Amino acid sequence: MSSLDELSAAEIAVGVREGAFSAEEVARAALDAIDQREGEVAAFLQVSNELALNVARATDAARLRGEELGPLAGVPCGFKDNMQLLGTRTTCASRMLENYESNFTATCVGRMLAAGVTPVGKTNMDEFAFGSSTESSAFHRSNNPWDTTRVPGGSSGGSAAAVAAGEATLCLGSDTGGSIRQPASFCGVVGMKPSYGVVSRCGVVAFGSSLDQVGPFGRSVGDVALAMDALVSGGADPFDASSQACEAGFLSALEAPVEGRRVGVVPQLMEMEGLSDEVKDGIRLAERVLEDQGAQLVEVELPHIASAIAAYYVIAPCEAFSNLARFDGVRYGYQEPGCATLDEQTARSRAHGFGEEAKRRQLLGAYLLSSGSYDKYYYPAQQVRTLITQDYLRAWGSCDVILMPCVPRCAFKFGEMSDPTQMYASDMFTISNNIAGNCGISVPLGLGPDSCMPLSAQLQGPAFKDQSLLSFARALERGLDLGRGLGAGAPVAPGFAKRGGEL
Ligand code: GLN
Repeated sequence: MSSLDELSAAEIAVGVREGAFSAEEVARAALDAIDQREGEVAAFLQVSNELALNVARATDAARLRGEELGPLAGVPCGFKDNMQLLGTRTTCASRMLENYESNFTATCVGRMLAAGVTPVGKTNMDEFAFGSSTESSAFHRSNNPWDTTRVPGGSSGGSAAAVAAGEATLCLGSDTGGSIRQPASFCGVVGMKPSYGVVSRCGVVAFGSSLDQVGPFGRSVGDVALAMDALVSGGADPFDASSQACEAGFLSALEAPVEGRRVGVVPQLMEMEGLSDEVKDGIRLAERVLEDQGAQLVEVELPHIASAIAAYYVIAPCEAFSNLARFDGVRYGYQEPGCATLDEQTARSRAHGFGEEAKRRQLLGAYLLSSGSYDKYYYPAQQVRTLITQDYLRAWGSCDVILMPCVPRCAFKFGEMSDPTQMYASDMFTISNNIAGNCGISVPLGLGPDSCMPLSAQLQGPAFKDQSLLSFARALERGLDLGRGLGAGAPVAPGFAKRGGEL
């Protein structure tokens, strides 16, 4: 008998393919783990018991017919609740979409299903992906499995918490300004934001269309590589105009040596206000580990990076304002009953359906796009975007990836960031990556000596060099000795490990 907590995605898929256990047994073990742990973690908005068992049984039936199973056969996987999956609701953690039944399956979800995953449920998030803590979910918060008095991060906090608590082996999230990497960092798991355009967003509810990207969470870099192979298989998606064909083969490129390759470090970033000592020390450790693996450290400059937050919090709300205009209570979402006119219905439906942060973002966007404000804020923000993109392009001339913190400090306590601008400011290390369309990944470093909470390092790479980025992440993981081959890397949070989930 083994525990799901100890199996990597690759090990589960091999076990299912070779008949060591059935996909149904794995599904039952995952649903059991969810049952045992969810009371404290609250990572899911819906657990899809029936769907999971049906899909798993279909996987087992295909095996009995002699069909070749996919590379993720039977792997329990959760999906952020802004992704459509037939047979589930897609709520975006909002009252606005509380009863919205998915009317098709998002391309990214469909590709994971085609690779064989068992969908265990839809994970919690900040409402419409606005936030960094899951506190803005209209339904409930999710808790950090390492310390349930702390946030799991956000906006894909449910996905990160589910993987960290061993409730799912893989999850998908979306990242507009850090929403995969930051919760991965807070929960001690690997979270990757692919380059803009690598993964289709068709069927994923839009937040900031020039920034949004879908990516995987896993407990090891190898698991994330397997998920990336599934996500890019099939090439560009004709239903997402931003999607581009990208080479598969993430898994085979994973162990590519980093010897002689260059890791950029940005001294200016290590001096940023609010960066905790333990995070700083963690980055120094990551530098040494990568050097030990034969990589060469080079100093690079990103002179405009300090302006990234200001630019993002103009561009992202403007795009959100435009995207969320479709929730008018007529075509989509909550409809307030008993209204005399269409205007009244729209106003009251939106007033009831959206929470505080969703309203704040849309009001901000409406203001920033109004005549007068457009020239004063929106246009300069786009100019800053160009400057930041150029900074990166210059930096890529002298390095293959850049190593930097992902977050300024470990996971914070619930309610600690009461001022929204304080929360916005904590995105200082993740946002520039979305602004420039690059790829980025958060790799766990172990627990901080002061906080006893997970710390991480972030690696960023040039657009469409996602495979190279993963090979650096794997080198870091290998050097840190968290990984055992392609086995599970980061452990399931203590307190949750082995409570249920036996196979
Ligand atoms: N924390 C950022 C925000 O609130 C990023 C969110 C995201 O990436 N979805 O906008």
